[in-house]
Amino acid sequence: MGYLKQIEVENFKSWRGKQVIGPFMRFNCIIGTNGSGKSNVMDALSFAMGERTASLRVRHLRDLVHGAHIGRPVSDTARVSLHYCDDEEQETVFCRSVSGQYNGVRFPCLLHALEKIGIVTKARNCLVFQGAVESIALKDPKERTKMFEIICQSKEYAEKYDKMKEA
Ligand code: ATP
Ligand code: MG
Repeated sequence: MGYLKQIEVENFKSWRGKQVIGPFMRFNCIIGTNGSGKSNVMDALSFAMGERTASLRVRHLRDLVHGAHIGRPVSDTARVSLHYCDDEEQETVFCRSVSGQYNGVRFPCLLHALEKIGIVTKARNCLVFQGAVESIALKDPKERTKMFEIICQSKEYAEKYDKMKEA
């Protein structure tokens, strides 16, 4: 199982210029006072994994640029790079910029690359946003089971399993 080694941000939300967040361990805890940028770390992560504007707490992607929230963006682009390490400490970088590039590849290629390392962005197996814990807890058991089946990708084996049970 790989892990996220560090995040590099450039003019993204509260970070001006190029900055490195990390290095991270396999388990991490982010603490800080209100408004210090904890959720911005999650926004950076989800942005690099292809998230659209609503979950990033902005109306337009260009509002992600440092200073844009007060109408004074410092640049016309913001960039986030995720440095992912596999078990052999081999590094893969996933990069996205506000100007619309994902590592220079198209969006479906990014999703495919993420799925190869076990991250299914649609299934939300990586990010639980503020307030989402409550909504997951309030789901009815069937809905919650369905969600976990998507996350652990067991759903694709369900048909095969049912057939084997019948045989
Ligand atoms: P809480 O504990 O209240 O949830 P938090 O630590 O999660 O707070 P964030 O929401 O991550 O805080 O960060 C809020 C800060 O980010 C605010 O100070 C805000 O001014 C700053 N911020 C948001 N967007 C931008 C931007 N485009 N440019 C510069 N700063 C920004
Ligand atoms: Mg927050």
